[in-house]
Parts: sequence; C-alpha cells; structure tokens
Amino acid sequence: MQSPRSRNLDQKPKAQSWINANPGRSSLLLEAIRALEVGYGGDLSGFVDFAPAEYRFNSKKSGGYVILRARNNGSVGAKVQLRSNYWKELELKNPRNLSTLTQLITKHCLTGFDFENEHSQVEFDKAVKKALDSPESERKERLKNASPEPRKVWRKVSAYVRNPDVVAEVLHRARGSCEECREAAPFVRISNGTPYLEVHHRKQLSDGGYDTVENAVALCPNCHRKKHFG
Ligand SMILES: [Zn+2]
Repeated sequence: MQSPRSRNLDQKPKAQSWINANPGRSSLLLEAIRALEVGYGGDLSGFVDFAPAEYRFNSKKSGGYVILRARNNGSVGAKVQLRSNYWKELELKNPRNLSTLTQLITKHCLTGFDFENEHSQVEFDKAVKKALDSPESERKERLKNASPEPRKVWRKVSAYVRNPDVVAEVLHRARGSCEECREAAPFVRISNGTPYLEVHHRKQLSDGGYDTVENAVALCPNCHRKKHFG
C-alpha cells in the first residue's frame, strides 16, 4: 500500500513526468523513498523538493534530512545528515541496502540539528548583551576555545511574494528621498540605477498587513533599521 507521502509525490506533475520518463531509475528511487517512510514509521513532515532524479525529505520530529538521488547507472545515492556538519553517503543497489539506510537513520535519530531550536534575532540580541556584560577575560577565554566554523542549520522558510508595482509606485512617490528623514538616498542601486531606498510595510505582512502603496513607505537603510530595531 502506498503511504500518504508517496501518493503526494505521485501527484506532483513534475515528479510524475520524471517518473514516467525514467522507469528504470525511478523504480529504485521510489522503492527507497517508501522504505525510508516505513523506517520513519510514517513520521514525515513532508518532502521539501522534487527535482528530476532527486528527492529530499525531512522529519519534523527527528529533524532528519535525507537526499535521495537516482543515478544514471540505475542505483540510488543517499546522503544522510547524521550530525549538523557530518554527512554519510551510501550507494543503494538493492533492497538490502535500503534497510541498511533505514537502520542508520533510526539508530542516529538525526538529532544533531533541529528546525525548532533556531534562535530568533531577539534571542540573539539578548545573547550578545549577555556576552558584552560578562567579564572580558571570560569572553576572551570562550573565544579562544570556540570553533571557527559556524554551525549550520536547515531552515524551513515561508515567504511573501511582493508586488513589484507596489514597490515601484512607492519609490516613484518618494522621488529619491527617504520618506521618514527626507534625506536623499545614500547611493544608487547598481542593479537597476535607481536611488537606494528600502520599501517597508507600516503594518508587517506577517502581522496581516496588506501589500499596498498605502501600507508601504520608502526608507533609507538607517531609518529602515530603526523601524525594526530602534
Ligand atoms: Zn531616513
């Protein structure tokens, strides 16, 4: 029986057209996907993307991340993230390999990183203040022992698609000057030659604000930062 996620995959037009066009490569890939879903006990929050010959998914509970890629030779390559910066690669040629992959994922629980532990800007600002307030000698000691390589987290992003006409109309209204402090834009945007101003929503889109000319204002970078952090 197909799992809900597999049915979801089969209903994606891009995925389905690739599956139809690559019967040899897709059969093992789909087998791998379903074996992994069984290994996860169906605990999948959803697949992130399906590019031709590639399938990614993550598990919300474990924070796991796996990329399966169908190869030209008919095998499936699996990249599994076991810890935040450690990837294990496997070449899957038969169902026995799939169970090895499933065991690997189950054993490690993929807990090295977590979507929900990502720090917000507010929390980060608090951490900076705390570090500033701590004795300089302690801070220097921590810096001496700190890893120079930044920790990497996987981020799930939802974004608002903004209307370019709204931005254009607000920039036109501003005529090259910040609508808050009235100073001229600090420089010209190299990509399109317009004065560099940032179009800010008075009521944020994430707070239910509208993407309209009336709800938007053109600001210089300083005034824009002040709106958000001042
Ligand atoms: Zn300004």
